[in-house]
Amino acid sequence: MKTLPALLCVLAAGATGHGAVAAEPILVIHGGAGVVAKDITPERERDVRATLERALKAGHAILDGGGTSLDAVGVAISTMEDSGTFNAGKGAVFNHDGKNELDAAIMDGATLRAGSVANVHTVKNPILLARAVMDKSPHVMLVGEGAEIFAKSLGMQPVPTSYFYTEMRWKERQQALEDEKKSGHHGTVGAVAMDKAGHLAAGTSTGGITNKRYGRVGDSPIIGAGTYADLHCAVSATGWGEFYIRATAAHDICARMEYAKTPLGDAANVVVMDIVPRLGGDGGVIALDDKGDIAMPFNTEGMFRGTIDKDGHVRTWIFKDR
Ligand code: ASP
Repeated sequence: MKTLPALLCVLAAGATGHGAVAAEPILVIHGGAGVVAKDITPERERDVRATLERALKAGHAILDGGGTSLDAVGVAISTMEDSGTFNAGKGAVFNHDGKNELDAAIMDGATLRAGSVANVHTVKNPILLARAVMDKSPHVMLVGEGAEIFAKSLGMQPVPTSYFYTEMRWKERQQALEDEKKSGHHGTVGAVAMDKAGHLAAGTSTGGITNKRYGRVGDSPIIGAGTYADLHCAVSATGWGEFYIRATAAHDICARMEYAKTPLGDAANVVVMDIVPRLGGDGGVIALDDKGDIAMPFNTEGMFRGTIDKDGHVRTWIFKDR
């Protein structure tokens, strides 16, 4: 026979679908790992913090009004995609051929539904197209021309490829070509959120890595690598995507919580500070669990990131402690 608290849990499960009772909404975002202190000017820092704050407030308005974590993640990420500040949407990095190839994914923790797109060139907000793949197609992932055709079929107006140009990213690519560097990564955006029903969601959007070649796709749009959410855990990653794919990083963090009962912070730390670097990679994640605990480990010098709590209190960080 069930005890009263257990019975109340069952009733709550019926009301919200998975056992969550009224929860305190929370949103965590990142604007990418890989920032180096000597490269960031005061103007850039002001721009980054202002954009993070704008994205946090936009997402919080959704959660505060009783909207879903999925919607909050979409709004926060599309705000960053529109800003020109980060490596996603406008401001995305250039590939070896001087083009922008954009990837994004979103996942609903309550239902394990997911949508993702890769290698799109004319989609203003790849995160919104990823959401449409989830909601309006029978598929999880669409790439390249097919994804663009799907976007047009939904009435999403394509933007000219020049829309994504920013001088900063163009110079980065020229530098990468001169240095014969294989790649450079920084600036991907992501969000994880919990809504008032206690449902989690995660999303990530990126231009990938500077000077990438041959239709390269990173971890961000790969469900389980750069983006993952379930009933208890939501993760968005940033960093050297090849290694995050090989580590199935985002899913590994959630699996450690579920199977080994490892607390979120420890699970995220093992993957980001041990497993990925042992393979040779670097980067970071933002992670949120169904208790509202947050983890934001990174093994680069900095990672743009921010949080907003139920009262709308915003915090942003770039380096370890500021
Ligand atoms: N993870 C992204 C990728 O490899 C890049 C980044 O986060 O900066 O495509």
